[in-house]
Amino acid sequence: MSRVYNFSAGPSAFPESVLKQAQQEMLEWRDSGMSVMEMSHRGKHFSIIAEELESDLRALLAVPENYKVLFLQGGASAQFSLIPQNILNGKSKACYLKTGAWSEKAIKDAGAYCNAVVSASSEDTKFTSIPEASSWLIDSQAAYLHYTSNETIHGVEFQSCPDSFGLPLVSDMSSNILSRKIDVSQYGLIYAGTQKNMGPAGVTVVIVRDDLIGHASKSVPPVFNYAEQAKNQSMLNTPATYSWYLCGLVLKWLKEQGGVDGIEQRNIAKAAKLYQAIDQSALYSNPVETASRSRMNVPFILADESLDKPFLAAAEANGLFELKGHRSVGGMRASIYNAIPEAGVQALIDFMAEFERTH
Ligand code: PMP
Repeated sequence: MSRVYNFSAGPSAFPESVLKQAQQEMLEWRDSGMSVMEMSHRGKHFSIIAEELESDLRALLAVPENYKVLFLQGGASAQFSLIPQNILNGKSKACYLKTGAWSEKAIKDAGAYCNAVVSASSEDTKFTSIPEASSWLIDSQAAYLHYTSNETIHGVEFQSCPDSFGLPLVSDMSSNILSRKIDVSQYGLIYAGTQKNMGPAGVTVVIVRDDLIGHASKSVPPVFNYAEQAKNQSMLNTPATYSWYLCGLVLKWLKEQGGVDGIEQRNIAKAAKLYQAIDQSALYSNPVETASRSRMNVPFILADESLDKPFLAAAEANGLFELKGHRSVGGMRASIYNAIPEAGVQALIDFMAEFERTH
């Protein structure tokens, strides 16, 4: 067996120790006599898994008491439509910051349920920057202000919590949740698919302030109604039990890494190294303005496009996989989530230098 360094944008690399633990527990979880996959979601064993999952996530993010933590299905994509249906609360408008492909999608989908006002856009810079907050056009009648804290495709990340201008702040944290410290109390709602920093695909975390729920439009299916799911511990339907379990293992691993504080320091170091290598090279470049560069997804292009294919082939030959950029932006992208060790980033940097030397 030879495991490679996997720079996939998601589903993405897992901590190897978590995979080994899952392997060890595959046939029997603790002394339950069965695999997690075989357990009733209402049984005493799975109840422990579910409780630990929620309490570990609450502890890692210091989620205040007046927030619900939900584990839903349908991905972050479903949330694009479900957020307006759940929290518009009679209002007809919501404000959105358009900073890349994912916020663009969120705006498009929300448009079926409300007037999705684009308060600011960086489309004119091809999504390589974040517009200054002083230029945002905020409508005080809006139900919330939505932004995507890390644009997975364009490699653009907010480095701090933006001003909400008095509106409940809603954030898609799919690709940077648990990678850096956040103050949950500054948000109305945070959502994230788990398949990057939290576990496998199949679970969508929604952290929502109590006062925002309970006013969903009548047409929302109960399984997508936040208040209904909160009342039922996210078990109004059968949850993705095995994915919940794996998320739980990843959270325990993260605690061993020093929690979010500990991993953030490593993420800062990993990203700094890789950007420095790109900036110093004559072959590679990253188009994103320095202050908005993502610590999680590092897109880069080669000065000569004809080298793309040889680069990818040579990278794979060196055990470095999934470096092809998203089809909409081309070039390369290295996703360096929590589970990518510093050694993986160093191996990529060494390979890139060697490729540049020989091409
Ligand atoms: N938002 C962001 C920032 C993402 O990166 C992704 C997935 N790459 C999504 C939303 C959509 O997630 P899903 O496919 O789980 O619906």
